[in-house]
Amino acid sequence: MTISITDVGVVGAGTMGHGIAHVAAAAGHRVVLYDVKRELAEKGKSSIAANLAKGVEKGKVTPEDRDAALARISTTEVLADLRRCQLVIEAAPEKLELKQQLFTELSKICAPDAILASNTSSLSLTEIAAAATNPERVAGMHFFNPVHLMKLLELVRAYQTSDATLETVKAFGEKLGKQTITVKDSPGFASSRLGIALGMEAVRMVEEGVASPEDIDRAMKLGYGHPMGPLELTDLVGLDVRLAIGEYLYRELGNPVFRPPQLLKKMVRAGRLGKKSGQGFYKY
Ligand code: NAD
Repeated sequence: MTISITDVGVVGAGTMGHGIAHVAAAAGHRVVLYDVKRELAEKGKSSIAANLAKGVEKGKVTPEDRDAALARISTTEVLADLRRCQLVIEAAPEKLELKQQLFTELSKICAPDAILASNTSSLSLTEIAAAATNPERVAGMHFFNPVHLMKLLELVRAYQTSDATLETVKAFGEKLGKQTITVKDSPGFASSRLGIALGMEAVRMVEEGVASPEDIDRAMKLGYGHPMGPLELTDLVGLDVRLAIGEYLYRELGNPVFRPPQLLKKMVRAGRLGKKSGQGFYKY
């Protein structure tokens, strides 16, 4: 049996949080967008307005739908404002203790059967769920960047997740127009585990001088039909983010393919974080 969802809470209004709020509101839900400071939540809402405006320019969104979607989104810096939500999706920074703390607090604020989901790209959903009361209503909802354009939603079943929770988040994802895959909780799930393996190996190949970043990316794009090369993708996601996930997967799985190469560590230490810092494997 799935739970009916009218009100959605989003915790963290950064890259992913604002995208999740966007697609939830566009699909007709009322959304409360929370961040630690009101300005941050408002900034997230401005990014949604900008993306919707682009949609209108391209003729993909009507001005009426844009206005209605924006009117459904409220912003807050008070976590308790999420109390009426039947589904809360957490998109705060990738730190286990922080996410656990949020799930403990959300358990006190929300109804006992409200679904609490995390957008974590690699952390253990089972450990996150352990911090919640009624952990059977916790699941992973791993969206992809940019959320309003990427079709995939990776659903993660924690050890504690109930069938009803999984069915509800699946139905919700489909209502947002996403195609879902379901994976059991394991480090890096299905997507990040493969993506990071390819990314780390590509960096190792640059380090060894096998080929230039451009040619390594071309090999995957032209030879394997990837829309973006592994080094371009590393620049887009952020070298620091990929380093952290690589270290975590190596620690958890012990497979040397995940061990971050020295070159990646040096680039992060030098502040070359990719697109967001203006330089990574490419210049922006
Ligand atoms: P981000 O840094 O862009 O956004 C994080 C937001 O969380 C910021 O606005 C920050 O102010 C806010 N925040 C900080 N402390 C908080 C707290 N205590 N409570 C609530 N919010 C808090 O990060 P992001 O890239 O949006 O990543 C968020 C999550 O999504 C992470 O778990 C990440 O692994 C995951 N993810 C990221 C991507 C990606 O491509 N960036 C893709 C899939 C999943």
